[in-house]
Amino acid sequence: STEESAVLVAEDITVAFGGFVAVKGMNLKLHEHDLHFLIGPNGAGKTTMLDVICGKTKPMSGSVKMADGTELTRLKEHQIVRKGVGRKFQAPSIFAGLTVQENLTLAAETRRSPLQAIGIRRYGKMSAAMEHVTLQIGLQDRVDARAGALSHGEKQWLEIGMLLLQEPRVLLLDEPAAGMTDEETHKTGRLLQEIARERSVVVVEHDMEFVREFAAKVTVMHEGKLLKEGTMAEVQADPKVAEVYLGK
Ligand code: ADP
Repeated sequence: STEESAVLVAEDITVAFGGFVAVKGMNLKLHEHDLHFLIGPNGAGKTTMLDVICGKTKPMSGSVKMADGTELTRLKEHQIVRKGVGRKFQAPSIFAGLTVQENLTLAAETRRSPLQAIGIRRYGKMSAAMEHVTLQIGLQDRVDARAGALSHGEKQWLEIGMLLLQEPRVLLLDEPAAGMTDEETHKTGRLLQEIARERSVVVVEHDMEFVREFAAKVTVMHEGKLLKEGTMAEVQADPKVAEVYLGK
């Protein structure tokens, strides 16, 4: 059953900012190999849901459980990373002055030993995992380039590569193709599809063309609640969804 293959289950999540309730009893279940898009109008609570899952925001009530039963809402952000939840924010957090390879090395070392990673130096050979990720993100010819000299798209892919080296089971992304050219957007979609072969991927997205092309599963949020869940075709055919998007 779907229950058995769930990697992460967020149940009855409620989040309030002061007196304002941004998320109201929201449920989200993530499965192995999901490429799951979270959509809905501005202010629907999508980003807040990702923030709850990665521990950046603590919910007023509700639970977020990994498959092994670990309750994530009780953990700190860095502990949640260690439990296998990676989060990519819109602004890239790469080190502009370091090369692509050095950035990837730093990410790989941080996973193994955060203290050693502080003393970053020039590294020699890449590990098999780093070579695999470098090919996946398409930066195999750019390993010696300074991260700051990369194109906007390449910077985003580098950051995704850095997250992959932390070996997340769940990868959360906020508008990963924002500001990209059509070609870069397409490459990003293909990359996410490939990542989903090994992990569970959740994407908050506003670009409906991108969602239509790449979403295997779509969850629509509206006013902090779950409005509809299904394939893109199922979601698009739902009159409630059309109403929310057309503002009727
Ligand atoms: P979405 O990602 O769907 O556009 P958000 O999750 O960013 O929506 O925001 C949901 C609602 O919560 C919005 O009305 C937003 O203004 C509000 N909100 C988000 N973060 C905060 C915060 N830190 N303090 C106050 N209000 C917030």
